[in-house]
Amino acid sequence: MTTPEIPFGHWLRRELLEMTAYTPKMGDYPIRLDANEAPSLLPAEVKEAMVAEVSRLAWERYPDPTARRLRQALAKRMGAAPEEVLVGVGSDELIALLLTAFDASPVRAEPPTVLVMTPTFVMYKMSAKLRGWQVGEVPLDRDWDLSERAVTIALDTLKPRLVFVASPNNPTGNLMDEGRLCNLVESAPDTLWVIDEAYVDYAPRHQLALRQRFPNLLFLRTLSKIGFASLRVGWLTGPARLIRELDKVRQPYNLNSVGQCLAALVLERFEPELAAIVELVRSERSRITKALADWPGIEVTPSDANFLWIRSQTPGGEVFEQLGRRGILVRGFHERGGRLANQLRVTLGTPEQNDRFLQVLGECL
Ligand SMILES: *Cc1c(COP(=O)(O)O)cnc(C)c1O
Repeated sequence: MTTPEIPFGHWLRRELLEMTAYTPKMGDYPIRLDANEAPSLLPAEVKEAMVAEVSRLAWERYPDPTARRLRQALAKRMGAAPEEVLVGVGSDELIALLLTAFDASPVRAEPPTVLVMTPTFVMYKMSAKLRGWQVGEVPLDRDWDLSERAVTIALDTLKPRLVFVASPNNPTGNLMDEGRLCNLVESAPDTLWVIDEAYVDYAPRHQLALRQRFPNLLFLRTLSKIGFASLRVGWLTGPARLIRELDKVRQPYNLNSVGQCLAALVLERFEPELAAIVELVRSERSRITKALADWPGIEVTPSDANFLWIRSQTPGGEVFEQLGRRGILVRGFHERGGRLANQLRVTLGTPEQNDRFLQVLGECL
């Protein structure tokens, strides 16, 4: 079989040909527990206030290029100054922006490297590959935590310019051990560490205090997992001087006016309503974790996030397919094989959705 020629294919980046697009699974599933979004529980008064806010927009105008109001609200949330905050179209844009701002050209034939833990959020690797970076991958240990020894070896041999650490991690749901993380950050002061806290609202602690201890840290956050995936708002917090340089890579009007004003409104006025949704998800997390605790053939990793990382004795692909046939979409990892073959990642939904998931899972096993 001959591969059909791609028009202008010889001008495409070589990396593209080796990659597959990130395409979330479409299809008609009554219950979607596959993307770690928050459950649909936003109170009507919040929705009404959002509509009223949008009705005041100047539609003919470009958005505020500095996203002043939104950055103010985000800075307050982070205990940072607005100059220490960079906003993006989701964390995804900020990951791309960082990997563009940092120099990916080799020094003395040494390929520039980005280090990631595995398994983790796939965008670090995809975004890095696309921009010509070499990607080093260090497996998490048997408890899905940082392996201090393995990361130390990778730091010594690869001398990465950037390291991405998601904590809580996706897809495993756990916070990384703070002592290990500190030791590692301290041991590689010439490396920029990006701590991705996309799920931190669901966790018992955050890691912002490390900002005071280490200058080589950036923090990544997003509204996507706490109720506003639709808005595409993420932000990066770090030293003002670095943020100022990174800001040069940002498109001036990256965040549209709707996203800017709605995100700002929600943060300014509706923190208690957001916190209530987060609290409900946390209580669902403990309820479902407890319910699954004595199921034979099921093992749940203690979660600090809004999803569960479940290992089944039954092959993962089979459980995934059966859940899907009964209208529940989760994230399967069977295609990745190895120690991920029997793992499922299941987003916590509303109490009714979670009950239905338990019921259907029981039927599948
Ligand atoms: C979902 C997720 C994000 C969010 O990306 P957005 O572009 O902000 O929607 C970032 N990091 C991790 C680890 C995630 O799982």
